[in-house]
Amino acid sequence: MYELHVTERFSAAHHLRGYGDPCEQVHGHNWKVTAFVHCERLDDVGLGLDFRTLRRRLREVLGDLDHRDLNDTPWFRETNPSAEHLARHVFERLIERLAGSPAALDRVLVQENDDSGASYRP
Ligand SMILES: [Zn+2]
Repeated sequence: MYELHVTERFSAAHHLRGYGDPCEQVHGHNWKVTAFVHCERLDDVGLGLDFRTLRRRLREVLGDLDHRDLNDTPWFRETNPSAEHLARHVFERLIERLAGSPAALDRVLVQENDDSGASYRP
């Protein structure tokens, strides 16, 4: 089994309702998102999935979040845009875009900074 991953970044504001200071105040992060896929076979070139393909699909998903207040997006008007919920959101949107791909999406890791983050796998 091979595991591949790509990392992309986006910048967005959020706040966590019902959490208390300071995360209840609107603030921003330079979010770091890593998508992990796995595959059993490689193509004739020796690739499980072209990194460029995975990166393009991940960018499509993150493009809808970049430079937004996440609480104002349709997905997080009622659900808190925590790292955990963001990881699930990105996973569910990315897996649709990888349909028919030779590699299967395994999990998505969302980091608020280099030291803390949350990942989601179904
Ligand atoms: Zn935050």
